Parts: sequence; structure tokens; C-alpha cells
Amino acid sequence: MLLNTLTLHTPQTTSEAAKLFKELEDSKVLAGGTFLLNSLKLLKTKGTRTPKNILSLAKVADLKGISSSGSNVTIKAMTTITEIFESQTITERFPILHTICRNISTTPIRNMASFGGNLTCRYTWTELPVAMMALDAHMYFMSPDGTGSVLSAEDFFKNNARSEYLFTHATISHDPLARLAYRRVRKMSEVDQPLLSLCVKTSFKGSQWSQTRVVINSGTAFAQRDYLLEEFLNGKTSGSNLGHEAMNHLTVAIYDTRSTEYKQHMFRVSLRGAIEDLCKSN
Ligand SMILES: Cc1cc2nc3c(=O)[nH]c(=O)nc-3n(C[C@H](O)[C@H](O)[C@H](O)COP(=O)(O)OP(=O)(O)OC[C@H]3O[C@@H](n4cnc5c(N)ncnc54)[C@H](O)[C@@H]3O)c2cc1C
Repeated sequence: MLLNTLTLHTPQTTSEAAKLFKELEDSKVLAGGTFLLNSLKLLKTKGTRTPKNILSLAKVADLKGISSSGSNVTIKAMTTITEIFESQTITERFPILHTICRNISTTPIRNMASFGGNLTCRYTWTELPVAMMALDAHMYFMSPDGTGSVLSAEDFFKNNARSEYLFTHATISHDPLARLAYRRVRKMSEVDQPLLSLCVKTSFKGSQWSQTRVVINSGTAFAQRDYLLEEFLNGKTSGSNLGHEAMNHLTVAIYDTRSTEYKQHMFRVSLRGAIEDLCKSN
């Protein structure tokens, strides 16, 4: 047997799932399974004990789908990465999400991996956290009594991506003035896992940068904003030198946690490229 003996719980509704999420002891959530199943197999091979209960979300139909209401778009937790990039709503309103999801790993992984899994799995290198923070997404969680709570994506990652309740969906608001640029650097040739990902968002007032968000996923910590760089960029006018000048206004502690000069350099190259893309788009 590939896995140790376990009890599989298969709720059919979000409220049943939310109850089990809180009440089951010694348990793990199974969404698309791309991380969890591998880790359960690996732990068994190493002889390490694995959780007794697995809470599968596969049969919870109301945890799937993308919908919109006015300028708000909702993405539910069990929507797959493929469904996100194939969604017309996402492609039209948030082309950056279409691009990011289209480039995640391979087709089999994208067909299984869920939006919720990418945000809540607590691996520090997955790519949707930076986009969700740049877009100022709000993340919704359901408690066992069926009431919900909400956190900004930024607060969720500041809290080290921990939550005591089931993640159900996120909402993002479409701002027609916002422009976003995204960069990822591949870690190794064998497995397409990013070394870093980052997203820069600004809303231009004429040619001036405003409400800028610079969000970095360093791979060694959860996604975080570079407030110093944002402060420098706000009020600046787009120009050919802005990307270069911006490099003197970084919160270096974010980037210099990486072990080698090459990695530290790649952050600067990527950030500068993203800022230059935005200058050209204005
Ligand atoms: C070979 C490979 C390459 C990959 N490359 C990339 C890449 O390039 N870029 C990238 O961004 N990602 C990449 N991934 C990550 C992939 O996107 C994740 O595997 C995925 O995000 C996890 O989603 P899942 O639905 O499979 O989660 P699962 O493996 O099913 O679950 C993982 C954990 O997430 C948590 N969880 C899931 N859903 C919920 C919920 N609704 N509420 C609370 N907790 C929940 C639980 O703790 C759960 O145990 C790669 C993965 C693999 C295996």
C-alpha cells in the first residue's frame, strides 16, 4: 500500500466541510492532492506517522467556480488552476491571473491543483499569493457554525498563512485603471518550481504612479510587500530611468535573505523589469 491506513471524510456541502475542518483531530485537507498525496507517500516511505483522517473537498460542488457581481469577482477554493486561466471573466478582467495560472507547472498538475491549495498549502514558493496581495484580494473562511470571517490576503500571509477555519473563496475587485506586471524566475530545469515570484501593481494618474503595491515572494518567507519601494514609486512619473533608480530604494532585508549573490541579483533584475514594463504601458 502506498499510504498508511486512514479514514477518508467526503462531505457534500461547504458547511459540513467547515464543521469537519474544525472538529476532526489528526487530520489534513485534501483539495487537488498534488502536494498532500505526495507528502503522505513520502512520509510513509520514511516510516514517519501520517494523519489518521483526510478531509476530501472533492465532492463539495459549492466550493467550485468563478462568478462576478459588478466589479467584484469571486474565485472559489476548489476551482482548478486550469479553470482559472480558461475563464473568460479572468482573462478579460485580470489578465495577470490568466498568465500566472497558464504558466504553473504542467497540464496534469494544473488540472488537479486548486486555487485554495495554492494559497493555503503553506509552501512559501507558490505563485498566486503575490497576485492576490497585489490585487488586494479578500479571503473568506467558514467556521463550524456556518458564519464566515474575512481577511485581506495581506493579513493572511502576515499571519503565516494560518487559519483555524476552512478557506472557501476569495474576492477581487476590478480596477480599470490598475496596471500589473509579473515576474517569475525558474529554480531548476528538472522541476518547474519558481525561485522567486513578484508582482507590481499601480494605478496611473496621468503618468504618475499611485496606489502602488510591490509584492515579493522570496521563496524563504510568505509573500510580503516592499513598503519602502512603494513609497518611492508613488508620485513618480514613468520614465526610462525609473526602474534603475528604484533599485536604490529597496527593503534589502526582503531580498538578501537568499543565500547566493545570483539569487539576490535575480530579484533586482526581475523588479527592474517589472517596473520598466509598467512605465512602457503608461
Ligand atoms: C511538480 C509540481 C510543480 C509545481 N509547480 C508550481 C509552480 O510552478 N507554481 C505554483 O504556483 N505552484 C506549483 N505547484 C504547486 C501546485 O500549484 C500545488 O500543488 C497546489 O497549489 C496545491 O494545491 P492542491 O489543490 O493540490 O492542494 P492539496 O495537495 O490537496 O492540499 C495541500 C494543503 O493545502 C491546504 N488546503 C487546501 N485547500 C484548502 C482549503 N480550502 N482550506 C484550508 N486549507 C486548504 C491543506 O493544508 C492541504 O493539506 C507545483 C506542484 C507540483 C507537485
